[in-house]
Amino acid sequence: MMNDETIFSKIIRREIPADIVYEDDICLAFRDLAAQAPLHVLLIPKKAISMLSQADSEDQSLLGHLLQVAPKIAAEEGYADCFRLVMNNGAEAGQSVFHLHLHILAGRNFQWPPG
Ligand code: AMP
Repeated sequence: MMNDETIFSKIIRREIPADIVYEDDICLAFRDLAAQAPLHVLLIPKKAISMLSQADSEDQSLLGHLLQVAPKIAAEEGYADCFRLVMNNGAEAGQSVFHLHLHILAGRNFQWPPG
């Protein structure tokens, strides 16, 4: 599964369109096509890691970078103080695209535990 080509690789290469809200050398963020909240952005590394459990020690700074960028995106979108981050790892956890990604969700109340 590691390094499999996914639809997110095509978004990184601009082969299919996406509503991109943030980009740097390491990561890209774009609006989810099926938004589950007023703000629903996907933040992905440009490196094609299939899921968090496939990341290794050399990905430590990349993973930290995602966690530092996510609140900045939420803040830029007007949700500095209240947002939810979700990372589904594996199909049974709800992962459908096997390119590691953080969901950044905000703009409504969220339930706990998640479904
Ligand atoms: P997950 O189920 O955690 O793997 O999340 C994958 C997410 O990618 C889902 O929320 C989909 O709605 C979203 N998605 C799939 N294809 C696209 C696309 N082309 N552009 C934006 N979001 C997408």
